[in-house]
Amino acid sequence: MRLHEYQSKEVFAHHQIPIPKGRLASTPEEAKLIAEELNGTVVLKAQVLVGGRGKAGGVRLVNSPKEAEEEASKLLGNRVKDIPVRRLLVEEGVHIQQEIYLGMTVDRERGETMLIASAEGGIEIEEVARVSPERIIKVGINPLLGLRDFQIRNLATEIEIPRPLWRAFITICHNLYEAYQELDATLVEVNPLVITTDERIIALDGKIIVDDNALFRHPDLVDKRDISAEATEETEARKFGLSYIKLDGNIGCLVNGAGLAMASMDIIHHKGGLPANFLDIGGGASAEKVAAALRIILSDSQVETVLINIFGGITRCDEVANGIKQTLEELKPDVPFVIRLVGTNEVEGRKILAEANLVTAESLQEAAEKAVNLAKEVA
Ligand code: GDP
Ligand code: MN
Repeated sequence: MRLHEYQSKEVFAHHQIPIPKGRLASTPEEAKLIAEELNGTVVLKAQVLVGGRGKAGGVRLVNSPKEAEEEASKLLGNRVKDIPVRRLLVEEGVHIQQEIYLGMTVDRERGETMLIASAEGGIEIEEVARVSPERIIKVGINPLLGLRDFQIRNLATEIEIPRPLWRAFITICHNLYEAYQELDATLVEVNPLVITTDERIIALDGKIIVDDNALFRHPDLVDKRDISAEATEETEARKFGLSYIKLDGNIGCLVNGAGLAMASMDIIHHKGGLPANFLDIGGGASAEKVAAALRIILSDSQVETVLINIFGGITRCDEVANGIKQTLEELKPDVPFVIRLVGTNEVEGRKILAEANLVTAESLQEAAEKAVNLAKEVA
């Protein structure tokens, strides 16, 4: 789950990381009011969950409350990188001497968190990474030892932080790591961390991604989730506890268990077809969950056949069959279905499907073959 800039900055403030003064505005009048309070140059920042807002025109510097109002009315209700702008962060303008990149993320190969920094932060950081990767310095944080002062000092030397600012920089790194751990984040990024002309260090931007698997430990964050940048199917899937990923093919897949879902996709491929999605309905799937999953699959206009592959363990095949039957009666889709049910209560399950005149299959091979052939016929 990705946090907005303003949410990330709330986290920073909570951990004593300096941020510019400012507040959220959802109307041009509010933006004007905040600009009056801040008195001087202010920055309007669209709160949209995408990178490269600055380049896309989502960050504007203005010099008066009146101009703040005008620019805010242009941004609000418009789109930045195709995402509707509903709120602006209005902040005091800062005189920048240097933009630094500072971030922390999980390095899965090393099994460690990496502290990453560059003297060349700002909106061109991707370009820096591409053209001169040696300008990006990485330091591994041992999870048992934590982040050590000497590591930060080495980093400060490498990216040439002015000596008088070392103490502040070291504190910011420690506090950032503290926030990273407390939130179960997989990424915390400050780009840019700026050195101002009056020699202060301030986090001018903020990005935090929290590990979805740890969200149960952060119910307060879950309530703040912004779904405006998310595919509606994905939002819907999460609501029902389904893992759904849309793909490019035309065979919709409904499977229980991630491994079985992968295997089903492989076999479809092997038989010459292309899966339209990955969808794991999980263990003990209820009729309601099956119905939700089918609605999601069928809402994809690219789907021309649906393959259902259920291995009943905790999940009961008759329950799944009922879910399928009810949903099909309700939605009356015009795409064919191939269904394989094995395991707990499979006999009862098959009986329900046979009564509903649905195509069934004994093995996964057979099911995939039928689905691929049906998809070809439709195409
Ligand atoms: P991003 O494009 O989404 O990463 O948005 P940022 O918040 O990083 O802002 C993009 C760029 O706008 C920064 O790299 C700065 O160069 C510039 N910027 C943002 N705030 C200020 C400010 O207060 N003063 C000045 N002079 N530039 C700013
Ligand atoms: Mn940025």
